[in-house]
Amino acid sequence: MGQVLETDEALKIKDNYFRVLEDIRNTAENCGRNPDDITLIAVSKTKSVEYVKEAIKAGAIDFGENKPQELAAKYDEISNVRWHQIGHLQKNKVRHIVGKTSLIHSIDSIPLALEVDKRASNIGIVQDVLVQVNVSGEESKFGITPSELDSFLDEVGVFKHIRVIGLMTISVKDYGREQNLSLFKELKILANSRGLKELSMGMTHDYKEAIEAGATMIRVGTAIFGARDYSAQNN
Ligand SMILES: *Cc1c(COP(=O)(O)O)cnc(C)c1O
Repeated sequence: MGQVLETDEALKIKDNYFRVLEDIRNTAENCGRNPDDITLIAVSKTKSVEYVKEAIKAGAIDFGENKPQELAAKYDEISNVRWHQIGHLQKNKVRHIVGKTSLIHSIDSIPLALEVDKRASNIGIVQDVLVQVNVSGEESKFGITPSELDSFLDEVGVFKHIRVIGLMTISVKDYGREQNLSLFKELKILANSRGLKELSMGMTHDYKEAIEAGATMIRVGTAIFGARDYSAQNN
């Protein structure tokens, strides 16, 4: 991951970042929301720290990663930003990121929650987390079902070193606008009816619908950093 950025690539990241911010502002205002209530998480997975530094110059302070070791490696180089663990998290990888991630978006099992609690306890912190919900019941392998949510929250509520501040979901790949909207609205109802404020939903292709449905955090990679090249790595 030692990409060096050409000048035009660097400029593109800045332009892209500003374009997404502008889009957030317009979408929010058109549906009567305050744009400041929406946090843009720049998803930098597979991209080098050079990309992250360009986004920082454009004003970015929240970054998303889905591989714990990658998050930890980038944290070691750039720690004055907020790092978000956004993708599926394996129990045996938790140790890499507790203390380095400001928010884990993808708590989807009790054993995982227990491990996060244990690691957070070891270093004397309370780890903020979101519970990943598989709203549609389709496609996604990860996330708990809406019907499991109450008992799940009850169980996690016992852990002293985890604080659940909201819910996260990923929509279904070929959903259109209306389907995305109704899926995201469902997550908002699930969260708000349980007093949970944060809603992490929406990616490059569906963040506008997510904002309209009430997202407080959107996770945007491709629209900021360009397409990802997975060929050189096994992720
Ligand atoms: C990669 C990823 C994103 C960003 O996807 P883009 O389509 O590139 O915006 C968002 N959320 C999760 C969980 C991801 O793994």
